[in-house]
Amino acid sequence: MSGWLKNLSLFDFPDDGGSPEIYRLLRRRIIVLMVLITVIPLFSMAMINSHQYRKTLRQEIVNPLLVLVSKSKHSMELFLAERLSVVSFVGSEHTFEELADQGNLNRIFHVMKQEFGGFVDLGLIDENGMQVSYVGPYDLEGRNYSEQPWFHEVCSRGAYISDVFMGFRRFPHIAMAVQRKIEGGKSWTLRATIDTHTIDELIASMRLDAKSDGFLVNKDGALQTATRNYGGVLDHFPVGLPSFSSEPNYTETTDSLGREVLVAYAYFQNSPFILVVVKPMGELFRSWRTLKGEIFYVFIAGVLIIVLVVFKLTGSLIHRLQESDERREAVFREVEHSHKLSSIGRLAAGVAHEINNPMAVINEKAGLMKDLIELDSDFKDKKKFLALTDAIINSVERCRSITHRLLGFARRMEPHIENLDINEVVSETLGFVEKEARYRNLDLRLQLADNLPEIASDRGQLQQVFLNLLSNAFAAVEDRGTISICTCDCGEVLAVSVEDNGCGMSEETLNRFYEPFFSTKKKGHGTGLGMFITYGIIKRLGGRIEAKSKEGQGTTVTVYLPKRLQAQQTG
Ligand code: ADP
Ligand code: MG
Repeated sequence: MSGWLKNLSLFDFPDDGGSPEIYRLLRRRIIVLMVLITVIPLFSMAMINSHQYRKTLRQEIVNPLLVLVSKSKHSMELFLAERLSVVSFVGSEHTFEELADQGNLNRIFHVMKQEFGGFVDLGLIDENGMQVSYVGPYDLEGRNYSEQPWFHEVCSRGAYISDVFMGFRRFPHIAMAVQRKIEGGKSWTLRATIDTHTIDELIASMRLDAKSDGFLVNKDGALQTATRNYGGVLDHFPVGLPSFSSEPNYTETTDSLGREVLVAYAYFQNSPFILVVVKPMGELFRSWRTLKGEIFYVFIAGVLIIVLVVFKLTGSLIHRLQESDERREAVFREVEHSHKLSSIGRLAAGVAHEINNPMAVINEKAGLMKDLIELDSDFKDKKKFLALTDAIINSVERCRSITHRLLGFARRMEPHIENLDINEVVSETLGFVEKEARYRNLDLRLQLADNLPEIASDRGQLQQVFLNLLSNAFAAVEDRGTISICTCDCGEVLAVSVEDNGCGMSEETLNRFYEPFFSTKKKGHGTGLGMFITYGIIKRLGGRIEAKSKEGQGTTVTVYLPKRLQAQQTG
């Protein structure tokens, strides 16, 4: 179990560093898990519901059917018992001699027929099985029954009701007989036959629907009444006898027509009959099947909706997760980058500071050397040495300007903040470079947004920033190149962008864009400090800087400045 749970753990991934595979895996796991935990209960509910409903429905169908079978069986038993009582009563009320008289027997039979109905004939049989007298449609007088099984049964049990048999007139009869004992161990038997009309009527009164069947069958499986689907009287009941039960009962089986059927039945107590009602299940469970279909559709619809929602939800969840991971990664990278820049900056400032003093010494000594050379009128190669000392002094000057700028970057100086019109600062800065632009035939395009709000910032530092950007753009373009300077209001911030159609930058250059001392320019043309210093200034002023470039096509550097300066960003 715990192993299984471990396998299911959502966040147990191969560690391969935030690849899309992880998100796909996570997504798949969440989907499988969510679908499982929602579909399994839904499925169980549907199963339980359908099972419960089937059970209830069965009870609702079976119970009234059993009541009907029980009642009908009772009526039939009552009918048979009543007829047997009549025969028994006649046997008790009259002596053998009275009954042996044909006239008497005629009269008695007439009364029986009139008062009770259903009787077909009546006969008196002596102890040897010989028919003594007879009233009825057949000529049975003088017949001997001693060899017949029913005669033996009535001799041993005193009363007897036969199975249904076809008489000479080819319609179903039931025979019943009672035996009377007289003194001297002698006995005689009174036997009557009844027709099965009343039983047929009782079956009809059950009002079974057209596809169902109700009938009597005997214990040998011979049909005792006509059926709709299983043959006529005395045919064999093809479905087979239901097992004995003293109470009305039911079974489910397949009948000879191949239908699933419900067989409700009741065994008679004193006669060899079983009342059987056969109902096809198809009819009974039609409503159940409809409901089952509905449950199925609801279930499928539910599952579809669940899957859809799970897919959508998981998709957007994973998407957000991935996005926030990426954003975190980017922020982390930027922080790392700015940390790197600031420590390099501090290091550079330290070095610059240390170098400043020896530089001053070199400068001083070189100046002294120059003075000495100038004063000494006999000095050989005076001109040559003067040029050399000048070169030293120039180089020292250049070094000092670099160290000065480095120190400027690192110094925690408070910016001199005032309210500025950015358009004005940009125009002023352009003034410094106009001459060169004209000289090189550059196309300077100025697009200044109207109605820019004033912002609080440092004029001198911003001028330095724009100058750096412009001088880089100047260096990047050929003569007759185009440089556009735009300002615009971007909501919380103002943007100033410098775009050129110059040489552009490779991926590698772009990556090292802000690095100090990184320059692609020829020796003596670039210090590699321009963007480094620009970056520092913009950070201090609470803004940010963005560079886009395509090698061979051009570069756009955009500076975003906050409209309102925030206190902590002045560090
Ligand atoms: P420098 O200008 O002294 O080389 P910067 O820090 O100003 O140093 O620029 C660093 C490098 O970035 C440059 O050497 C150049 O390769 C690249 N660069 C800067 N601006 C542009 C631009 N507008 N177009 C093409 N490359 C540029
Ligand atoms: Mg530069």
